[in-house]
Amino acid sequence: MAMVTAATFLGVATFGRRAFAAALTKEQRDKLGPDDIIALMKKGNERFRLGRESPHDYLAQQKASASGQYPAAIILSCIDSRAPAETIMDLGIGDCFNARVAGNIANDDIIGSMEFACKVAGAKVVLVMGHTSCGAIKGAIEKVQLGKLTGLLDKIRPAIEATRYQGDRSAKNYGFVDAVARKNVEVTMADIHRRSGILAALETSGAVKIAGAMYNIETGLVEFFG
Ligand SMILES: [Zn+2]
Repeated sequence: MAMVTAATFLGVATFGRRAFAAALTKEQRDKLGPDDIIALMKKGNERFRLGRESPHDYLAQQKASASGQYPAAIILSCIDSRAPAETIMDLGIGDCFNARVAGNIANDDIIGSMEFACKVAGAKVVLVMGHTSCGAIKGAIEKVQLGKLTGLLDKIRPAIEATRYQGDRSAKNYGFVDAVARKNVEVTMADIHRRSGILAALETSGAVKIAGAMYNIETGLVEFFG
């Protein structure tokens, strides 16, 4: 075994050439608890914000993970081009599963993917991540009607109704849009817990944590909660 392991998830620089293991190993992943993994994501976001990302050797990560993957988390986030989960938390190939859908809502297919990620593949964190200035949230507030998007935006409706907010409850008010985005993360977390007996049981046992986060596209900060 190499003396130095350097999975980027662990925030260890992949300096050097071939001697270092570039992707998260099963041993490394299994040593981490859900709270450790969230702490590592926070550190990765800090590196991103400071412009001190790990020097990713994607080719080495690709080769190291080709024979097996041991991701630590599954992230559900929005399709927004400005909120790429791996980039903003300085994660590499093999570090996390990633489901993206406008407005980061959960449906049966996404929940099934989370069940696979955690129960079968051993991921320990389900992170639902919303973001500021979310177009899907704005569209839901404005009741946009457009093909299949109509049905998707309907799934955000409960979060709008559940958002307590004094003031202008329109899509023009970013304060309200961001408050709904945050509530939408909370609603989605509860939804996942309620609809998946598998994930709820894993959470009760402490093996898995369902967590939430909001990404601020102006500051680059990922704020974790829940
Ligand atoms: Zn969005």
